[in-house]
Amino acid sequence: MNQLPDSVIIFGKQYSIEYKDRPSDVDKDGRCALWGQTDYWTHTIRMYAPPKFSGVEILDTLIHEVLHIIAEELKFELRKEEHHEELGLLAMALADVFARNGWVVPGLVNGRHGESPESEDPAPLAKAESDGER
Ligand SMILES: [Zn+2]
Repeated sequence: MNQLPDSVIIFGKQYSIEYKDRPSDVDKDGRCALWGQTDYWTHTIRMYAPPKFSGVEILDTLIHEVLHIIAEELKFELRKEEHHEELGLLAMALADVFARNGWVVPGLVNGRHGESPESEDPAPLAKAESDGER
């Protein structure tokens, strides 16, 4: 399986996942460049995931959006803007643990087009976050 997941079920709600080549396409209003955005009305996660992205980079953003949804549903403090950096670091850490321990589907390990990890540069995990939502 080299396909990325096209949906995720969280607390019984199914969210569709859309992968975008341009960060401006992630924002539903097209007004700013974003890593990821969850639309709670339409249950849609849109993510910046150009073909060059490694699986772990995609996983990082996907976990980030999933954490937003969980935090929102459970009314965690983590949902608040002042905790956004913490949420981002938690997502990065989980993506790293999952990837390094092989706890992810091949599509997410190998990246968007299923290249083998050996053919890619090691993914820099700590990348600067764009302003705005992720
Ligand atoms: Zn975010």
